[in-house]
Amino acid sequence: MLPVLTLPTPDHRAALELVEEAREQEGGGGGFARGLFLGSPAWASLFPYPLQTTADREHGQPFLSALEDLLRRQADPDAIDATAEIPPELMTSLRGIGAFGIKVPADYGGLGLSETNYLRAFVLLGSHCANLTTLLSVHQSVGAPQPLLLFGNEEQKRRYLPRLAAGDLSAFALTETKVGSDPARMECRADPAPDGRHYLLNGEKLWCSNGPIAKILVVAARTPPLPGDAPDKRRISTFIVEAGWPGVSVAHRCHFMGLKALQNGVLRFEGVRVPRENLLAGEGEGLKVALSALNTGRLAVAASSLGMAKSALAAARRWCREREQWGAPIGRHGMVAARLSSMAASVFSMEAMLFHAAALDDAGADVRLEAALAKIWCSERAWDVVNDALQIRGGRGYETASSLRARGEDPAPIERWVRDNRIATVFEGSSEILRLFAAREALEGHFRRVGVAPGRSTDPPQDWARRILPCAAWYLRTFLPRFAPPADALLRGHLRFVESASRRLARGLFTSLIRHREGLERQQLLLKRQVDAGLELQAMAACCAYALALGHDPRRPAASELANLFCASARLRARALLRRPPRGELKLALEGADRTMRADWLWLEEGRLDPGGKGLG
Ligand SMILES: Cc1cc2nc3c(=O)[nH]c(=O)nc-3n(C[C@H](O)[C@H](O)[C@H](O)COP(=O)(O)OP(=O)(O)OC[C@H]3O[C@@H](n4cnc5c(N)ncnc54)[C@H](O)[C@@H]3O)c2cc1C
Repeated sequence: MLPVLTLPTPDHRAALELVEEAREQEGGGGGFARGLFLGSPAWASLFPYPLQTTADREHGQPFLSALEDLLRRQADPDAIDATAEIPPELMTSLRGIGAFGIKVPADYGGLGLSETNYLRAFVLLGSHCANLTTLLSVHQSVGAPQPLLLFGNEEQKRRYLPRLAAGDLSAFALTETKVGSDPARMECRADPAPDGRHYLLNGEKLWCSNGPIAKILVVAARTPPLPGDAPDKRRISTFIVEAGWPGVSVAHRCHFMGLKALQNGVLRFEGVRVPRENLLAGEGEGLKVALSALNTGRLAVAASSLGMAKSALAAARRWCREREQWGAPIGRHGMVAARLSSMAASVFSMEAMLFHAAALDDAGADVRLEAALAKIWCSERAWDVVNDALQIRGGRGYETASSLRARGEDPAPIERWVRDNRIATVFEGSSEILRLFAAREALEGHFRRVGVAPGRSTDPPQDWARRILPCAAWYLRTFLPRFAPPADALLRGHLRFVESASRRLARGLFTSLIRHREGLERQQLLLKRQVDAGLELQAMAACCAYALALGHDPRRPAASELANLFCASARLRARALLRRPPRGELKLALEGADRTMRADWLWLEEGRLDPGGKGLG
């Protein structure tokens, strides 16, 4: 997380410092993406594409088959949407097959499945019912199991993991009214109690998914500065809190445009006595706990987005073939055909990127960057795919499933998917915040190259000259072609493009750093372009590697053609993003927003009804 503002206020500095401290310094080895932004992609991590092993697939299959069978027989997503309730019998059945402890090791009562199998489950869930998906994802990706697995001590794991795996629902409470993307503003406090054995937790948490019905909560709260800290030092700690303890209450149940059955609410904590042994990791380490758990959460959101996109593709494919207008199936009309083929290419790219990140995670690599990129990519592509499906289905895309069913038509629930999917680019790291996070990670190697701590240097220009000179040889080398993996005739050119564009991207990032130095963090549009270029290149490379690996699979014919379809358009987008940005782009945007916020253009809003009376001024 790298919240970048346009004004370097003291609050902004404090927020940056807090997040920077929470950032894990050491990963378990970089993946492909880190090298991509440095001009030397780690091809070995992607070629050959790390397909799931037969042994791992067989290990996960009994659960995946049981889940599929249960969803088919017992989970009616339209009824869940309409009644805003998940039937208790369905929850019992999900508990029965182990769906609440998919990754929890068998020693603690879970299924002990890999990240890859976990994400396969979320693709399946996402393709069927977003309400169930969110409940299960929040419970085990950011709710208590994941933070416990990453940071819990043995006693905490023994006490809570068996309960959680058996189905005691958990929730994750980070957000507050004033804390969205910026945890430095946190007001919820946990102060040491006079007895020395407890913390006293006070405050309110907003939008806590599963919160109103959860039994076990992971709560982030401010704790006092540690010995040696400045008196105003902001520290955040994370605690396991039981919902049944005195002082915990649900202040409000929230309702949204989609995810109608999501139990989400405002949780209130009034003098809750939290035993010291329920502190996760160390005091002041809370943000690290939250950010690490969010890595997994992001992959689960990416997986469920892929699942929904697959279902939207299926609905659009059927309709393109069946529906005839103007003398031909609509899929044969150029504009509809372009949408459908772009949907297929997008779904392929999402799958290629997601399962590469999953394989890296299973291999113990550092997936922070890959998880963030996969979340941005899959949530945004899914939104495009679902929107394309709506357009292709025409009026039927806008009609509810129950109305379609009542008229005897195919009840493809695209209207529900649009509502349910929209939040994916907002929660568990909004697209904007994740782009800033990705930019921070992408720049890490460049900062190291010039020997500067990110965002901290105020060196005079002559010192920068001293820093840059030793990088000259590296910079010149980025003009020389390097290795690109061999591929079939269709994909070879795309991989060479990724290789050369990666060097260009690295030069662009390096030049931006030199040009803007400590001010780079404020160049959001520039950073966005560079991250977006990286996203296209990462997706292209993943598609080519995936297609080559699937090449011999008779059940998945023409994978190279699919990768080629994706790469042909991604190349155009990447080229445009790598071009020099228009001069004054950021200034123009900031001035436009400033004028709008200052109400200089209030006349534009004339002619509308202002029911709340809040619009003037
Ligand atoms: C259905 C739902 C379920 C949720 N579940 C949970 C949960 O279980 N637990 C929990 O703790 N929270 C939960 N949340 C909260 C969710 O994670 C937040 O909505 C999210 O973090 C964004 O915070 P915000 O909405 O306050 O937006 P803000 O942080 O106020 O941001 C508003 C907009 O500004 C952008 N923005 C903010 N800062 C910057 C910046 N520096 N640079 C560029 N753009 C910026 C954001 O991307 C966003 O578009 C949930 C929310 C919803 C709606």
